[in-house]
Amino acid sequence: MDTWQYFIHRYMHINKFLYRHIHSKHHSLVVPYAYGALYNHPLEGLLLDTMGGALSFLISSMTPRTAIFFFSFATIKTVDDHCGLWLPGNLLHVFFNNNCAYHDIHHQLYGNKYNFSQPFFVTWDKFLGTHMPYSLVKRKEGGYEAQPIKKID
Ligand SMILES: [Zn+2]
Ligand SMILES: [Zn+2]
Repeated sequence: MDTWQYFIHRYMHINKFLYRHIHSKHHSLVVPYAYGALYNHPLEGLLLDTMGGALSFLISSMTPRTAIFFFSFATIKTVDDHCGLWLPGNLLHVFFNNNCAYHDIHHQLYGNKYNFSQPFFVTWDKFLGTHMPYSLVKRKEGGYEAQPIKKID
């Protein structure tokens, strides 16, 4: 699932036609929120989610029962990645480096060419040099803000 989504997602950023007509709809959410997780063009839903899901199901030979849990979990994870909330005790943030702060960076203009990996791991971003590290900075208005860690050369 991650492999399929990484390469198709990244290609939709490289190919100007696909970005302008399909993927930009999802990126109209500069500040993601939970309901916006699957706010995207129908072709993006077909390409990323339906085809990625079908391939994951077929290649892994998972049972239909396993598929119920896997796809439910993937959907919950995607919604959490877009929720914009860093609540204490969220196990998805404890166990996954790919979380709402990580994906929030991708939704910012400066992060548009980074952090393509979704929905589970950051592996492909790290392998292929598109990983943008971030830190959570406390805002004086309350809450946190994900900010890229500036490299000092
Ligand atoms: Zn994107
Ligand atoms: Zn997103």
